[in-house]
Amino acid sequence: MKNFNIVIIGAGISGSVLAERYAAMGKKVLIIEKRDHIAGNCFDFYDDNGILTSKYGAHLFHTNDEGVWDYVNQFADWYPWSHRVIARVDDKTVPIPVNITTVNTLFRTNIKTETEMQDWLEKNRIPFDQPQNGEEAVLNKVGEVLYNKMFKHYTKKQWDKYPAELHASVLERIPVRDNYDDRYFSDTYQALPKGGYTKMFENILANPNIIILLNTDYFEVQDQLGEYEKLFYTGPIDRFFQFNENLKEKLEYRSINFVTEQLDQEYFQENSVVNYPGEEVDFTRIVEYKHFGNQQSEKTSIVKEYTVDEGEPYYPVPNDKNQEIYAQYKAEADKLTDVYFVGRLANYKYFNMDQAFRNALDLFFDLERKDNVKVSG
Ligand code: UDP
Repeated sequence: MKNFNIVIIGAGISGSVLAERYAAMGKKVLIIEKRDHIAGNCFDFYDDNGILTSKYGAHLFHTNDEGVWDYVNQFADWYPWSHRVIARVDDKTVPIPVNITTVNTLFRTNIKTETEMQDWLEKNRIPFDQPQNGEEAVLNKVGEVLYNKMFKHYTKKQWDKYPAELHASVLERIPVRDNYDDRYFSDTYQALPKGGYTKMFENILANPNIIILLNTDYFEVQDQLGEYEKLFYTGPIDRFFQFNENLKEKLEYRSINFVTEQLDQEYFQENSVVNYPGEEVDFTRIVEYKHFGNQQSEKTSIVKEYTVDEGEPYYPVPNDKNQEIYAQYKAEADKLTDVYFVGRLANYKYFNMDQAFRNALDLFFDLERKDNVKVSG
């Protein structure tokens, strides 16, 4: 564990990008990863039916960031994949994001044009100049009935909080459409890596200047590290300061309990992801992985997602209280020299994948700008 220039805690997006960038500069990089695999929550594998499956939930790459798109294309061949999600609402199946079909199906309307849909939204929405929370954000766009049917209970199941207890930004992740577009995302680039994310991470980390220690908890080995130039920490920021007497308040995270069922049938559902926004079941959604990339198999497996308090932290919980607690940790983090906090858990930000790539690339550029050309974006 000696003679490394750069030490990185965590082999997810942030850690792997920084490792790749520093290794390319000729630095010796050590990655310390607690889990028994690389790729963080993007980790995927072929299951018993030969279906490429994500261990920690579906990961759909989408971006408008040319620089990030160029960057990820160096490490994988990507095929276009427009993600679509449907939701079971009452006894009906509708597209989410809300679009013309959603409204016509649920309300037996006969909306045909964008203008008619805009009129419907205008009649039904409850306007807020500047939505202060998730509830106001949804009411402002679609009004109370759709809020109750599609957002209120899903959010409670996902966060154990109602939308009013969360920042507007959480609910604003999903657009509302005045047309028939049923894609989940609107970005220019929407794609999946051929052969999966794990393979892409192997390529990102292929430089022989990078050494990866799996199954290793940084906090158990930190005394054995020699001198280094910089340390990048990508885990939960409050864990880093677990022994700091001044920082006692814990940050909230949400985890997911993934319950997999192997089924002796070709398909279970008509789409990769089906959301259950009602109260009648406890899970938020069911993912059938074989739909991604139209994988063929006689059998299938499905994964029900139950969001829970305990377990590995996946989601920061964006609201004012947690932001205040995070600010205390951040102030402590800023006092450290040559230690950098990067990524979703260390920055306590609900980054999408492309934002995590961008964040790591920007940090690298900011630190090393003297020697390097910026990856544009
Ligand atoms: N959401 C909802 N109903 C849905 C889908 C999403 O209320 O059918 C809300 C919910 O609060 C969720 C947020 O919108 O946490 C963002 O959804 P997204 O699909 O982006 O969540 P992720 O895929 O990151 O879990």
